[in-house]
Amino acid sequence: MQELKILYLYPDILELYGDYGNIQVLQYRMEKRGIKCIIDKYSIGDEQPNFLEYDIVFAGGGADNEQSILAEDLVKYKENIKEAVQNGVFFLLICGAYQLFGKYYKGVEGNIIEGLDIFPYYTEAITDRKKRCIGNIVLEVELESNKKTKVIGFENHGGQTYNSLSPFGKVLYGNGNKFGDDKEGFFLGNVIATYLHGPLLSKNPELSDYIIKYCLDRKYNQNTELKQLEDTFEQQCRTQLLEKFLKKA
Ligand code: GLN
Repeated sequence: MQELKILYLYPDILELYGDYGNIQVLQYRMEKRGIKCIIDKYSIGDEQPNFLEYDIVFAGGGADNEQSILAEDLVKYKENIKEAVQNGVFFLLICGAYQLFGKYYKGVEGNIIEGLDIFPYYTEAITDRKKRCIGNIVLEVELESNKKTKVIGFENHGGQTYNSLSPFGKVLYGNGNKFGDDKEGFFLGNVIATYLHGPLLSKNPELSDYIIKYCLDRKYNQNTELKQLEDTFEQQCRTQLLEKFLKKA
């Protein structure tokens, strides 16, 4: 039986926006296909993980305070994480986690939280707490060349991200990396770093399957043909949301 291993970072700290749902969607879509899904959790004080031993590393979003609490712990693993990224381990990073893999995050109080500085972007929050990018968001994403797909989510961030040299998607509706930006997130073939909560994968089955296929192809050195799942309900939901949001765009 094929299996994929997920390392879920700081589940007790980066849990404010329900991003754990992404893990549940991946597990569901793997197990429906007979793929074993192993989920290890890591948080402050746990035994040091080896990021190279995993197929997927996931971390969700959180408030400034929680980000400042875990940043010092996360930076201990900078070299191991860098090696894992270079080695093709898949990283799915949502909002607060996205910000912490960049150069730094300047919080709403003006405090600088040093990031891992693995990716070129940096983030600065607007000092007016009322000024946050909040709302539904739709992107056009090119997961593979000449294969565009729409990705639907919900954003809630004060942080404004700059210098994302390789964005995840083009904004069709919503804000993106900063107010009024036409780009959102950061993307490499094995890294999706995005502001999209929702949870992200619950509204975007194609994205979930992209991640699962990528990991199986890498681990088993194959060109996986994933069995089609019964996604009628997901597609009905997407059709309704896209009509609703893109009509307004
Ligand atoms: N605290 C960060 C911000 O406000 C991240 C928020 C989040 O994870 N949704 O931008």
